[in-house]
Amino acid sequence: MNPTPFLVDAHADIAYNMLKYGRDYTRPVSEIRTLEADSHTVHENGDTLISWHEYQRGNIAIIFSTLFAAPVRFRTYETETLIYKTFDEAHKLYSTQLDTYHRMQDSMPDKFRILASKRDLELHLAHWADATPETSRPVGMVILMEGAEGIRELSELEMWHNRGVRLIGPAWVGTRYCGGWKEPGPLTADGRKLLSAMADFNFTLDLSHMDERAAVEALDIYEGPIVGTHGNCAALMPNSNSNRHFTDRIIEGIIERDGVVGVVPFNTYLKVGWLRDKGHPREEVPLGVLADHIDHICQIAGDSLHAGIGSDFDGGFGVQSVPPEIDTVADLQKLVSLLQARGYSETDTANILGGNWIARLKRNLP
Ligand SMILES: [Zn+2]
Repeated sequence: MNPTPFLVDAHADIAYNMLKYGRDYTRPVSEIRTLEADSHTVHENGDTLISWHEYQRGNIAIIFSTLFAAPVRFRTYETETLIYKTFDEAHKLYSTQLDTYHRMQDSMPDKFRILASKRDLELHLAHWADATPETSRPVGMVILMEGAEGIRELSELEMWHNRGVRLIGPAWVGTRYCGGWKEPGPLTADGRKLLSAMADFNFTLDLSHMDERAAVEALDIYEGPIVGTHGNCAALMPNSNSNRHFTDRIIEGIIERDGVVGVVPFNTYLKVGWLRDKGHPREEVPLGVLADHIDHICQIAGDSLHAGIGSDFDGGFGVQSVPPEIDTVADLQKLVSLLQARGYSETDTANILGGNWIARLKRNLP
């Protein structure tokens, strides 16, 4: 049997969690959970699912590390932090998170490494391939900006690119650039300009959170690479009453552009009506439901080359809100046997767990 495949997780709000909740991801998950027991953090964001140790255990070689902040109109309580009122404030919050990733790389080179080029990626993969359990395996971080309001003017794109940002998602909720989650709408005039400027640097466009109208137009006009880092299939969530999921039209569009869709193991996005607050048990949403979403993407594509994982773990939910088979991010490896039981080959599962994201990074990184 081949060794455990590399897993790539295309969505993790690492810096956001460090800055907002003081989470130290170099501690084991069990320690973070003990430290946070009964805290506001757990009430708000659940018990953590990720840490450097779990990335090692799960053979998770690369994560897409986000820059993220929410606009003040989506603040849920008065003292909430990492909230912006103005684009200047957004810029500052995003910039601080990017500094955090650089600091992690500088102060813990044995644990974290920013991947900003094909060369970085090549060296990184070679290192992981050769590493033994005793050698240190730094987790590779590809920087993804989620919700682009940290970009005040298009002339800044060069600075963000120079500092390592490689993917940009113009939406979270609606932004000045386009309609988004909970705030539907098309691309704005600024959004069209943003896409045109992004293409000059070959940024990868992330359609996650974009309203379908905006995403359809973006698929049509964006000249650079396109993916959906974290979203599930709307077709499997009928009457969800949410524009957060990818319609088949968008999935087809991403496949046509040879992109990848990363599925999210979050119960609320896997079963309509499932809510932690309403006391729904995790057992209602077995991991097989996530495999259904992967299968749906593969059926549309006719191959296993366009599905991936974007867990979004710790991005507003924790262990209380994921399928019962998952205690930490390392358990995503359980998808291998689930998919193989459905007839997926070893090559297929290696593609889905990480190979597809790695292939796009090989092609799209500078
Ligand atoms: Zn998101």
